Order: sequence, then structure tokens, then C-alpha cells
Amino acid sequence: MSTSLLYHAFAIRGYDYVKTDYAEGAVTFTICQRPENWRCPACGGRRVIGRGQVQRRFRAVPIGRRPVSIALPVQRVGCLACGAVRQVDVAFADPRRSYTRAFERYALELSQHMTIKAVAAHLGISWDVIKDIQKRDLQRRFARPRLADLKQLAIDEIHLGKKQGYVTVVLDLASGAIVFVGQGKGADALEPFWKRLDRSGAVIDAVAIDMSPAYILAVETHLPWAVVVFDHFHVIKLCNEKLSQLRRDLYHQAAAEDQEVLQGTRWLLLKNPEDLDPARDELARLEKALHLNQPLATAYYLKEELRQFWNQADKAAATTFLESWIARAKASGVGVLRSLAKTLRRHEEGLLAYYDYPLSTGPLEGTNNKVRALQRQAYGFRDLEFFKLKLMALHEAKYALVG
Ligand SMILES: [Zn+2]
Repeated sequence: MSTSLLYHAFAIRGYDYVKTDYAEGAVTFTICQRPENWRCPACGGRRVIGRGQVQRRFRAVPIGRRPVSIALPVQRVGCLACGAVRQVDVAFADPRRSYTRAFERYALELSQHMTIKAVAAHLGISWDVIKDIQKRDLQRRFARPRLADLKQLAIDEIHLGKKQGYVTVVLDLASGAIVFVGQGKGADALEPFWKRLDRSGAVIDAVAIDMSPAYILAVETHLPWAVVVFDHFHVIKLCNEKLSQLRRDLYHQAAAEDQEVLQGTRWLLLKNPEDLDPARDELARLEKALHLNQPLATAYYLKEELRQFWNQADKAAATTFLESWIARAKASGVGVLRSLAKTLRRHEEGLLAYYDYPLSTGPLEGTNNKVRALQRQAYGFRDLEFFKLKLMALHEAKYALVG
């Protein structure tokens, strides 16, 4: 072993090699620092005097499967310039860390391909140390995303589970990056984001949200010039909920033999017609239920038609389409359709805004699947901060998805 190998293989420079020990399959290099290299950690001054030593060990990159440690007596010094009495800085490790920076880089490289558990096992170190290394890396790269260039956003909530509740997520629609994760749902969750956005000086053109009053109010309050676009997935989802509600009501009113026909049609009603499975007779079953019940049929066909709202040639055509849809829904005499018509009328501007800014929260729905994958990995919720950072790193696939 030589001082030069210390530098080239372990990225340790400015220290002298002392000895090597082998114990229980592990290798320990003992090194030392010459007094002329002591510096005051507070002011950087050279006029320091020794005040004892602290023995420290650092994990270093392994040699093959052999764990390697660096043993170093770290000098405590008293500074003649500023009066500080402290341990000198360790050149190859971050403060308060028990591993070298080279070890940290190596663990991060492995993390791109392996789970935390696998990296920890491979390096013979605890799960928490690897998680801590990942977390600090994520913090450096994602905790404070640049907001100044943001133009178009999508805001939505993600349900994490009964215990964990919701997080509210802001997506940059240009880059696909999650730029903010707030705890809870509704307006409060977004407060820290508005402050940061305001400081960044970003000018937001348009925001895609669902029709929840809390988001509408929040966007109108904080981004009065931005165009609000109501996300079409959420509109269709609302429409489907109304349809399910209607089916449920009809079921309870129906005679026994009709109930049998209605039973099990819930999913068929919600399926897009092109997805109905002919092998399972789904179309026939659906048609039978619709035939039986005029209000259900009306609601079903109006729901199917509403999907065409987002396929119109231009805003004028879309306006005509929506007017006609609302008029027919109102005239249908079906309660749930009338209430939906009212809702769409009230949100007409934000629905038509799609033709100025064809935005949706769709990219966030895609993220939802990745979130499910993250959730399946157990670590997520022991450390919500870590989970949030993982969300913000999702668009840079890298190691974000590996546990
Ligand atoms: Zn000093």
C-alpha cells in the first residue's frame, strides 16, 4: 500500500499511509495527517496547536467483496487566530459522516440498479446508511427545484392510504417534473408552494386542476392572471360517478327480475364501448340493461357523448357542443344529469379553456402508477420527506424507482 494508491483508489489525498490490518474478512487502512496540514476548521487559519486526537473510522469503497475501512486519528486543534477548539475537517468525508465521499458515490451508482436492501447487503452496511446517502443526494438535487421558468402547471392530490392520507402535488407540464409535494389536500397544502413561486418571479399562463372549489379559489387567489383548465379525466370521472349513482338508485327501485339484469352492469356502464369484451357477452348484457331502463340509457349515451367534447375542431365548435349537451341533459328529466349539467354550466369557462391550453392533469395520473410502485416498497412512509423527494425525482427515472 502506498500514499499514491490511497489517492488513486480511494480518493484520499493529503494523508500518509501507516499500516494495513486484516480482521474477519475486512481490511483496515490506518492513515495519519501531518501537523503541517492542520487547519482551523472555523477560520481556515494555520496557526493552530494540537489538543489531542479522536479515533475515527470511515467506510471506504470495498476491494472486491472485502469491506474496507479507513482508521484516522482526527486531530483536535486550538486556533491561535480565532480561539476555536475543534476537530480538524476530514478532507475525504462530509462532516459527521462515517463513510468517505467515494463510498457515497459508489453507493449511489449501485442504487441506480439495486434496491436499498441489496446495496446495503452488498456493502455490508445498514439499510439506514444507504437510505441516508440516497436521501441526501435527492435533497441536493430535488429539494429546491428551480421555479422561475414554470409556465404551465397541473395540480392534483394523490391518496397514499388510510393512515397516510393525501399529498397535493404540483407538476411542471413542460418537463414532467413534480416541483412541489404538500402534505394533505386542499388549499392549505399549497401555501408553501405559492410563497416559493412568488419569490421565483415565475409567470404562469395556465393551470390544470379538477373542479374542486378549493383549488379554483387557490389558483384564482394566487395566480389571478392564469387560465384555469378543468382536467377532462376528472370531468369524465365525475360523470361516471353520477352514472353509478343512477344505476344504484334504479336498482333499489326495480323489480326483482330487473335487478338481476342491472346487477353487474356497473363496470360495463363505465367502460368505454370500444373496450367491451365480446367474448364475455358484455355488449349484449349492457344493451339489455339499457333497454330495460330509459333514464339509464339516456345517461349512458350522454356520458359517452360527453367524451367527444375534447375532440372538437375548435373552441367555437366545442362551445356549440357543450351548449347542446347541457340543454339535452337538462331536458332529460334525469336528476343526476340535470345536476351534472348545472355543474358543467358553472365551469364552462374552464372547460372551454382546454381549446386555448390543451392541458390536463393526465401526466399526474401516469405518475400515480409510479407512486403505487413507490408505495409498495415499504420505506415510503417511515420517512415522508424521503418519499416526497422520491416523487420529485420520478421524472429522472435513474434510481428513483428502485427501493
Ligand atoms: Zn480559527
